[in-house]
Amino acid sequence: YALRVEKKNANALLKKLFKRGLVDDGWKIVEDGDFIVIPLKKWVEGAFEFSFPRREGKIKPYEKIVALAREEGIKCDLPDYWEKIGKVILIRGFECDENELGEIGKIYAEVLHGKTVCIYEGIEGELRRQRVRVIFGGDTETVHVENGIKYKLDVSKLMFSSGNVNERISMGKIDAKDEIVVDMFAGIGYFTLPIAVYGNPKKVYACEKNPVAYYYLLENIRLNEINNVIPLFGDNRDVCPLGLADRVIMGYIKTWDFLPLGFKILKGEGVIHYHDTFREEEIPDIEEKLVDYAERIGYNIEVSSKRIVKSYAPRIWHLAFDILVKGKI
Ligand code: SAM
Repeated sequence: YALRVEKKNANALLKKLFKRGLVDDGWKIVEDGDFIVIPLKKWVEGAFEFSFPRREGKIKPYEKIVALAREEGIKCDLPDYWEKIGKVILIRGFECDENELGEIGKIYAEVLHGKTVCIYEGIEGELRRQRVRVIFGGDTETVHVENGIKYKLDVSKLMFSSGNVNERISMGKIDAKDEIVVDMFAGIGYFTLPIAVYGNPKKVYACEKNPVAYYYLLENIRLNEINNVIPLFGDNRDVCPLGLADRVIMGYIKTWDFLPLGFKILKGEGVIHYHDTFREEEIPDIEEKLVDYAERIGYNIEVSSKRIVKSYAPRIWHLAFDILVKGKI
């Protein structure tokens, strides 16, 4: 719908319409001689139907994706949520004609300025391998920039969890001046890189056993011009240095059984950033369980912070704790 108004009265009317939330900013205001035509969200007295040009910048990307798809005759429901990791776009699986997938991928790439579009099919195994199906483009290696840090990875082989963003950023806020840090589950450097870049540690030992993740860890150390990270390839039970760290990072899931090793890596006292997954009903008692567990293996601890990182599965949550290890009992 539209309202036509003389230019000299336009400001006053626009103010009124904006105040009432009636102007539809998805469309451009049109000049017509001494008049302007204002696009409206709904009919008001005096309104008439009018065909406005789209205000390009104002259209939501998803609306644009759907509009382009409909123009191509694609009728299926398209995913309205995606993740963009560097130049690679990940969308969830959806029901559609197989032979339309390429065109759909092309539209997502065009609208979201990506180079490759993949359907996300899950994460598998201990090494957190990502399964994806490429529907447009082909190159799945990309550099994702977050918090001023470059993370290079191959999205078809490795994960980059958007749900962990706050944890990655908070790692960069830790004052680790002159500390020795050990990252037991370094991956491509999710936590190693921010603490090494912003925390001023003396050294960060970064252990990683997946050769693909380790390759990108090396790439990322180089890309970010870091010289205080010592990458260690292999299982942390074999390669982590013991008895010298001020701080240990355990950024993985199913890490409960690795806690004794985390304590041994510390030089007696220090901090452990411990991540794990728990069933909903377990959550209220975890601090107590952690203190008991530590006592049983001979350590005196205090849980100084407990946070929910993200939902992991129905009624299962990914939690993170900062554990202050005060020393041996
Ligand atoms: N915290 C990350 C984030 O922000 O997205 C995600 C966790 S990362 C995927 C965990 C890494 O630990 C994986 O790369 C996996 O290969 C590695 N890993 C698992 N078990 C390991 C072990 N015993 N020793 C060394 N690395 C291990």
